[in-house]
Amino acid sequence: MTTTVDATLGKDVKKFGADDLFKCFHCGTCTATCVLSSDSAQFPRRIIRYLQLGMRDKLLRSVEPWLCYYCGECSIRCPRQANPAETMMATRRYLTSRYDWTGLARRLYLSEAWEFGALAFVAAVVVALFYFLHGPIVTDRVALNTFAPVVWVEIGDWIMGAILSVLLLSNVARMHRLIMSGDGGKRPPLAAYLSELKTLLLHAATQKRWRDCNESVNRSRWIKHLLLVSGYAIMFIMVFVLLRWFQTDEVHPFYHPQRLLGYYATAVLLWITVEIIVGRLRRVEPIHQFSHPTDWLFPTLLFLTALSGIAVHVFRLSGMPLTTYATYVAHLAIALPMLVIEVPFGKWSHLAYRPLAVYFHAVRERARELPQEQVAIEVQAA
Ligand code: SF4
Ligand code: SF4
Repeated sequence: MTTTVDATLGKDVKKFGADDLFKCFHCGTCTATCVLSSDSAQFPRRIIRYLQLGMRDKLLRSVEPWLCYYCGECSIRCPRQANPAETMMATRRYLTSRYDWTGLARRLYLSEAWEFGALAFVAAVVVALFYFLHGPIVTDRVALNTFAPVVWVEIGDWIMGAILSVLLLSNVARMHRLIMSGDGGKRPPLAAYLSELKTLLLHAATQKRWRDCNESVNRSRWIKHLLLVSGYAIMFIMVFVLLRWFQTDEVHPFYHPQRLLGYYATAVLLWITVEIIVGRLRRVEPIHQFSHPTDWLFPTLLFLTALSGIAVHVFRLSGMPLTTYATYVAHLAIALPMLVIEVPFGKWSHLAYRPLAVYFHAVRERARELPQEQVAIEVQAA
């Protein structure tokens, strides 16, 4: 197999945050340090080598950048202060932009004007929709479902969910095609995909490799990440599946499951996003020492989404109709742009790409173990 050399690759990935890429002199300390690196998936040195030498095709076929969970150990041990952990992070941003066929992810990662402009545009669309299409404004009591009829909000959610799903799935298909175009054109048989489905489900649900990523500090970070994911999983289910049950004008008692689930989701979202933001401000841990603009944006938007959701709840319980309606619109004008921008194009997408990379790696390994007569070989036409 020939390898195309792209002399601009290293410079291009530097734009995504790999500032110290060319300091590396390939001593290999980082790979020896990394507990997640293995014989079949060695990193981070190999990825740094691809970047420095411009081996773009090999990089695009690599799952390794997604197998790194950014514990930061390699950067602590690097004798050249080449920050291999951040290079892996920057490579994930670059790969996210390459999986995205629309080209938007690249623009959003490389331009703050595009990032904030896109968020502002979606927010403006949300506000305009409410301005022109809201229901009657009841002022003698809070009637949120009259101002924003739940059936219309639900239809809007489903349309948005369908568009985001198509975008994310098409990016996932592109990721699959790029990664599985390796191995000399051989493609793993269906049996390998089926037998490793459990790997996909396990890692999608738990991100459990993170737990193994050195030292107790990463175990607690893994648990917090799980809690954070549970918080916005509940938020997703409330918005896309159970909206009629969640958005009611009836005031349930404090112990009602609708309120308890909402309190749990907002509490973990607020707690952990504040921890992330404070960690990035203090810059003590290796994972927080370098922050790309997009590293700030996602936790900040999540924090504001949770905060504005609480504000809607408090104003509703306090019997303040106009303030409730205005805060509700503001809440959606924060939450919806976050979902539209972050799910298919931004930081959120790693929740899909990471377990899929673990899965594709396991599928490739499983295919190598199968007897050759079971392996369907598809040689690429090109
Ligand atoms: S990144 Fe640092 S530790 Fe890793 S190979 Fe390069 S110089 Fe050595
Ligand atoms: S940040 Fe941690 S998981 Fe990632 S390459 Fe470095 S040592 Fe390995």
